[in-house]
Amino acid sequence: MNKAIKHVLIAKGLAKTYGQGATAVEALKSVDLDVAPSEKVAIVGSSGSGKSTLLHLLGGLDTPSAGSVFLNDANINQLSVAKLDQLRNQSLGFIYQFHHLLDEFSAVENVALLLRIRGLSNEESMEHASKMLKAVGLAKRELHTPGELSGGERQRVAVARALVGNPACVLADEPTGNLDTETADGVFDLMLEIAREQGTAFVIVTHDPVRAKRCDRILHLERGVLKTFLQ
Ligand code: ADP
Ligand code: MG
Repeated sequence: MNKAIKHVLIAKGLAKTYGQGATAVEALKSVDLDVAPSEKVAIVGSSGSGKSTLLHLLGGLDTPSAGSVFLNDANINQLSVAKLDQLRNQSLGFIYQFHHLLDEFSAVENVALLLRIRGLSNEESMEHASKMLKAVGLAKRELHTPGELSGGERQRVAVARALVGNPACVLADEPTGNLDTETADGVFDLMLEIAREQGTAFVIVTHDPVRAKRCDRILHLERGVLKTFLQ
């Protein structure tokens, strides 16, 4: 992590309109957001309020209609596709509601993939991945494929995959949304614990107000407008 950087992620006047003319949907309206190193920001809001759209734009997975995103001080909207891929690989981790693990690969191979893409040797990548799986309590399951794991275990693998590259920030879109309360609590605790140890910033979309309160800051998205949550 770059300690000299004041904010790992900055959004300025970020807006997104899907479609054109009569069918246009204004999903996000001029959102400003700063995320400091190690900070955990919860985003809450009803379905359709623009939470996933915001996370996609912050992660450079979609192009804004207006405004910009700065990741580790680089304006990601001005980077070439190759440079953006590289920056994303180095600086961001992603966790989704659905695990998005590759079914034909074992847990440890799924976690190692990002490091292989980064250019590490197979041996080194597998070694790091193995350590990360141990940290999420899955040391004994690393050779299992996603189909052989429970929902909670699969999300733990997804957490390990998001954090293995020691990213500056993890973007998590309802990461525990598919799990029962107890399992969700376990995965959420784990995420915060590892994030604290590694000094990783988190932007977490969650429906659960109790989990949101465990973050440093809660922001409320309402029809595409980001507001500070009154606590
Ligand atoms: P949330 O994650 O808060 O449920 P989304 O960001 O997914 O909200 O969606 C915000 C709004 O944008 C919704 O009205 C949704 O229907 C619309 N939307 C999302 N993606 C698209 C798309 N690819 N094309 C058109 N409209 C979209
Ligand atoms: Mg969503």
